[in-house]
Amino acid sequence: MTNKASLFETLNPPQRLLMGPGPINAYPRVHQAISQALIGQYDPVMTGYMNQVQALYRGVFETQNQQTMLVDGTARSGIEAVLVSVLQPGDKVLVPVIGRFGHLLCEIAQRVGAVVKTIDIEWGEVCPAEKVEQAIKQFQPKLLATVQGDTSTTMNQPLKEIGEICQRHGVLFYCDATASIAGNDLKVDEWHLDAVSAGLQKCLGGPSGSAPITLSDRCAEVINRRKHVEAGIRADHHETGEDAMIQSNYFDLAMIMDYWGPERLNHHTEATSMLYAARECARIFLEEGGDKVIARHKQAGDALAAGLRAMGLELFGNQAYKMNNVVGVYIPANVDGDKIRLELLHCFGIEIGTSFGPLHGKIWRIGTMGYNARQECVLTTLAALEAILVKHKAAVTPGQAVAAAMEFYC
Ligand SMILES: *Cc1c(COP(=O)(O)O)cnc(C)c1O
Repeated sequence: MTNKASLFETLNPPQRLLMGPGPINAYPRVHQAISQALIGQYDPVMTGYMNQVQALYRGVFETQNQQTMLVDGTARSGIEAVLVSVLQPGDKVLVPVIGRFGHLLCEIAQRVGAVVKTIDIEWGEVCPAEKVEQAIKQFQPKLLATVQGDTSTTMNQPLKEIGEICQRHGVLFYCDATASIAGNDLKVDEWHLDAVSAGLQKCLGGPSGSAPITLSDRCAEVINRRKHVEAGIRADHHETGEDAMIQSNYFDLAMIMDYWGPERLNHHTEATSMLYAARECARIFLEEGGDKVIARHKQAGDALAAGLRAMGLELFGNQAYKMNNVVGVYIPANVDGDKIRLELLHCFGIEIGTSFGPLHGKIWRIGTMGYNARQECVLTTLAALEAILVKHKAAVTPGQAVAAAMEFYC
């Protein structure tokens, strides 16, 4: 029960070091951006910011796509917007499932009424390109939907070859890059991706609540063939597309493109504060330099992994495909994983992640993302985890982890 006096307490959340698989601590500049003054949605300054956000995210996504914008909602809203806008009932979609978020793509596509075929990959591995090509030839999907970095398993699915295959077979290629973007290479145009969605709360270093997306011209055309402008704002020059109307109003990307486009056709009220956050995340990424940010994530990820190994812990999954920004580590024998996590939080204010599905209770997931892809975060986390594990008499080698991680920095 919430006690009544607590309702009027000043909001004062504790300072935590968020070293899980997301959300993470936002860059301080992002907090500043969010606190800036609100302006009207058609204020020329606001529409100017919207244009800037589009240009900035073209840089983040490494694309020339005109249709680059934000969907207002968490990363899942970006996924849902793409799938509901591209897929009509009965359309075929192929999904390589390498973890929890692959299942999510299937689930959303099914709700949309699409016919889903999966390529099921053991957790901890990625999907070979040949398997994708084989399945495309047999199944002839309209869309291939993938996850790049699946945080549930910490694996990073290679996309370049799959992109070439989709291109060759005329299949639209969508990817959920929420967890991987800004911490691992992602080259939207070079890899022939037609639609990519993301979120801020991983390597981009912001809060959750905004989903940057980008759509190729080809993908935008497919979506615009389903265009159906709302009655209250429709004008004579608006033509209704020949294909079936998109089943969601909020996630109707045909209308959202018109809101972000020169017509500025009214749809939702853009989430101003979140747009400020998204803008700042992109600006930080591009200012530091994409390659440098990704290298910083790799350095932090490698240092953390080396530290965990030096402690005598075993890492989960095929390390050749590990994401730079999150590592899965087996919970040592005879300790209660959740109890250790709770003590880390209480004694050190550090949060690390649990895991889902077949990995639940077996591994922890530790992230080094965005603002937290830094030496001090890595070293502090290793030292703290080691202290708690030693306290619980886990079979670890003390005194090695921090030194092993420091090798990556000094
Ligand atoms: C973390 C994550 C998300 C997050 O979705 P939200 O709606 O922002 O919670 C989506 N996809 C992947 C692959 C993720 O790792």
